[in-house]
Amino acid sequence: MIRILDEACAGQIAAGEVIERPVSVVKELVENSLDAGACRVEVIATPDGLELTVTDDGCGMSPEDARLAFTRHATSKITGLADLGVVSTMGFRGEALPSIAAVAGVELRTRPANEDGATRVVLRDGRIVEHGPAAGAPGTTVRVHDLFHNLPVRRKHLKSDPYEFGLIVELVGRLALARTAVSFRLSRQGREVFYAPGSGGLPEAAAAVFGRETARGMFPFAGEAEGISFQGLAGHPSMARTSRRYQAIFVNGRWVRNYALSRAVEDAYKNLLMTGRFPLAVLDLRLDPGLVDVNVHPAKQDVRLLDEPTLSRLVREGVRQALARRSLVPVWPGARHEPAPRPRPVTFSFPEEREEPPGEPPWAANREPDRDPPRAAAAPTLGEEPAPYRPTWPRLTVLAWLAPTYILATGDGGLYIIDQHAAHERVLFEEHLACLTGSTPPAQILACPLTPELDAGHKAVLDKNLPLVESLGFALEPFGGAWLLRAAPAWGPPAPAESLLVDVLDMLLEKGGIARSDLVERLVTTWACKGAVKSGDRLDYPEMTGLVRRLGAAQAPYTCPHGRPTLIQIGERELLTRFKRIT
Ligand code: ADP
Ligand code: MG
Repeated sequence: MIRILDEACAGQIAAGEVIERPVSVVKELVENSLDAGACRVEVIATPDGLELTVTDDGCGMSPEDARLAFTRHATSKITGLADLGVVSTMGFRGEALPSIAAVAGVELRTRPANEDGATRVVLRDGRIVEHGPAAGAPGTTVRVHDLFHNLPVRRKHLKSDPYEFGLIVELVGRLALARTAVSFRLSRQGREVFYAPGSGGLPEAAAAVFGRETARGMFPFAGEAEGISFQGLAGHPSMARTSRRYQAIFVNGRWVRNYALSRAVEDAYKNLLMTGRFPLAVLDLRLDPGLVDVNVHPAKQDVRLLDEPTLSRLVREGVRQALARRSLVPVWPGARHEPAPRPRPVTFSFPEEREEPPGEPPWAANREPDRDPPRAAAAPTLGEEPAPYRPTWPRLTVLAWLAPTYILATGDGGLYIIDQHAAHERVLFEEHLACLTGSTPPAQILACPLTPELDAGHKAVLDKNLPLVESLGFALEPFGGAWLLRAAPAWGPPAPAESLLVDVLDMLLEKGGIARSDLVERLVTTWACKGAVKSGDRLDYPEMTGLVRRLGAAQAPYTCPHGRPTLIQIGERELLTRFKRIT
């Protein structure tokens, strides 16, 4: 039998989509405050989040609107389907207030700035039980209590208080990054746990969210192209975290999850981070609302973007250039970074593929004077790699070798310690890569062709991948049922030709079908490691200066190909402190 659900029941079901846990209530209420043009938003919650109050100084509501606001699909933000494509407010479904009222007790007090008095509306079980004039300041206060009192199962599924409250802290932090001109305060049981001043600057908001010291190690970046602009902060590689939780991406002021944009930011850190590490970053992207589809998820966190490849390329380049302007040497101990310089927006050509700009790169004027000029060396590239790093690099003078694997050097602002293996790996990685991206890689013709001993598996992959294998510098010829090896790469580690071939075949075997660029990257990484000086190998002075010079010529000298640092700096400040010259 088909039955029409009564209103209260239907309301609870719909509410389930929007109001899952305490943080959902905070999200909806604070978004309403922002849509109402608030400059100040205050959230007060109990530790379990089941009772909370959101106060704003926004536009308020008339007595009639205060009643209407709790009617399903009542919204002041869109009038019809035509508007759906171009919504710029955070809410637009007219579902939040009725959904909250369906699962909690609600009291609303609201007053438009130009009115003398406020209106108070009280709801129980989704129905208005009181509505009338009251005292109150301009703006709106919504108090929600006994959340999920009528949904014991949902309440049981909530996690611990610290977890639920943590989600609220995270949310408010994200909103503070998205709306830097709005002041946010969050308190738990009378104690302030988060405060952002709303001064309008992203660095100030980041200081409130990540902590002052961390925020100082985040580099500003900005860029624009036709109809698109973005700004953000990119964290020093040494501050990378083990999850993406510390990446905040906003599209038109709305926090979103978008894999392509996350990847774009991470790609800019390619080879600068160890695997499993994610950069700290804030990205604030502005574009024509018509290019964003926010209507894909009830909680509106996943968005679809038109032309993601172009956006990704712009963002990746913006972040890369921010990183390239800075020294990325980790300063011991921990991150202690100089205050960030003001970013200069970089203007990109759009939407064609970007070419190397002629002459001075656009960001050159932004470099600190008294540094080495940008190197113009062609970038070793893997597939469609973007513009190369042109890092600021200290002028290093080698002092001594320190067992078992370190080179000590002086340079700008203190003592540098270089890991000889990591440094050599980076140098070989880039040199090998350069060999393989040219026309033909250097090969060594064998005076005496070899017949390497290959097992059935090796033979099979070689049959299938002969052109790929030969493109690395091998020359092979079928010879009876076996193969004749006539030439081997001249760019790899010093190892017998057969063992180089077996390395390649092993990689192909392990991976099955593999793109050339992936094979090249893995091979170059492995061979750079094999060919590099080891820990315990004692280097003499010319070897050390040679290695340091080659490292300085690398495109991304700060890390080995696995993302480990090639050098660290013990700063002047650290030495002064240690020797008690300053306190
Ligand atoms: P939506 O935000 O999707 O429009 P809501 O149920 O969240 O739907 O809110 C309904 C309406 O109530 C809003 O469109 C707005 O006009 C009004 N409203 C809600 N909260 C506030 C607030 N804090 N200040 C001013 N108006 C508000
Ligand atoms: Mg809303």
